[in-house]
Amino acid sequence: MDPIKDQFARPLRDIRISVTDQCNFRCSYCMPAEIFGPDFTFLPQEEYLTFEEIYQLIKAMGDLGVEKVRLTGGEPLLRKDLHLLIEKLMSIPAIKDIALTTNAMMLPKYAEKLKEAGLQRVNVSMDAIDEAVFKKMNGRNVSTKPVLKGIQAALDAGLEVKINMVVQKGVNDDQIIPMAAYFKERGITLRFIEFMDVGSTNGWKLSSVVTKEEIIRMLNEHFTVEPLDGAYYGEVASRYLYTGTSAEVGVISSVSDSFCSTCTRARISADGKLYTCLFAAEGFDLKSFMRASSSIDEVRDKMAVLWNKRRDRYSDERTEETAKNRKKIEMSYIGG
Ligand code: SAM
Ligand code: SF4
Ligand code: SF4
Repeated sequence: MDPIKDQFARPLRDIRISVTDQCNFRCSYCMPAEIFGPDFTFLPQEEYLTFEEIYQLIKAMGDLGVEKVRLTGGEPLLRKDLHLLIEKLMSIPAIKDIALTTNAMMLPKYAEKLKEAGLQRVNVSMDAIDEAVFKKMNGRNVSTKPVLKGIQAALDAGLEVKINMVVQKGVNDDQIIPMAAYFKERGITLRFIEFMDVGSTNGWKLSSVVTKEEIIRMLNEHFTVEPLDGAYYGEVASRYLYTGTSAEVGVISSVSDSFCSTCTRARISADGKLYTCLFAAEGFDLKSFMRASSSIDEVRDKMAVLWNKRRDRYSDERTEETAKNRKKIEMSYIGG
């Protein structure tokens, strides 16, 4: 019986840590170019947590039950020497799994280094296989080619790769079947993500969400898919197998079929704020607390109190009204 982590009503298993709020893309659903333009003020670099601070925090979180770390952003590969952070995190005995979410643009340069440092998995965000749709969605007119090259570089380096596709009605829902066919053929797992109302700049409307049910219906019109059991407690993707193959496909149904009651995830922004929910309005300033604390045990105990107090269930309660009227932090800041 562990005195700290066994008191949690909902276990704390995974942590997503943003290592930068900057990005080389301007995906319309995340960092719309009209808002995140040349005049947008990003965090000054000196506000970032240092690698040593991230290491200390994750080590303390290991005592609270955290086993999985996902590095995210903004675009995490824009953070200099990220492989050095991965190496450090790998030395924490409690941490069983380190993953990275990326737009893949810089994977040709870094995939091998990341793998050598101990990274196991990458999730690549790719929202279309059609050139014109992809160029429009990434907001920077970037072709699919460098992204596909990045995916290949990750595979060549021996990293496990999954693809994430955010689906928006009328924007890229016509890409559901071409994307499924492309990645099925290559045996790479594709996960469709329901468009979410994170932040307040992406113009979210309930009517732009393509639901899990609709996606599965479309998949079944072209292939046959059968459900797989969730792999572990807190698994967010509903997983399916293309019948008669070992190729997998999934849907993350955060809007139409939410999963707050089994949410085991905390998030830390690049400037060291702790959020117990993706849709929170405020985070706790861990960085200042840590810098003023006499020991890391004090920080660990504070995180335990914050996690224990949490009652977050935003997605279970979401309506068009909450989406519009509640203050929420932006996706590029909190890291998805
Ligand atoms: N830049 C990296 C990338 O795109 O993979 C990492 C950061 S990005 C904020 C993390 C994930 O959040 C991506 O898979 C992205 O597709 C997803 N995301 C961003 N905005 C979203 C939204 N409004 N609804 C659903 N998913 C979103
Ligand atoms: Fe950048 Fe990722 Fe957001 Fe796209 S989803 S703008 S790649 S942070
Ligand atoms: Fe977890 Fe908040 Fe998402 Fe619910 S809305 S699953 S509590 S992050």
